[in-house]
Amino acid sequence: MRPAWRCRNCAAPWPCGPAQLVLVTEFYGHSIALAFYLAASMQEALDDAYRLGLCPDLPAMHGRFLGWLSLARRPQR
Ligand SMILES: [Zn+2]
Repeated sequence: MRPAWRCRNCAAPWPCGPAQLVLVTEFYGHSIALAFYLAASMQEALDDAYRLGLCPDLPAMHGRFLGWLSLARRPQR
């Protein structure tokens, strides 16, 4: 849900755990594309935050949108 970038299902900051699972499934085998998608989403979220007059915590935003990716890249068992 924009502009707060919260999950439509659970209202947690997007991408929440279930959303990450959906993304990893949708982008399976395309981790670079997923990284680009998340980076673009983070940029949009930052733009929205600035438009709202907020001062987003950049390291936290990076961790939220991209920090979990290295886990996703690990081979699934
Ligand atoms: Zn959710």
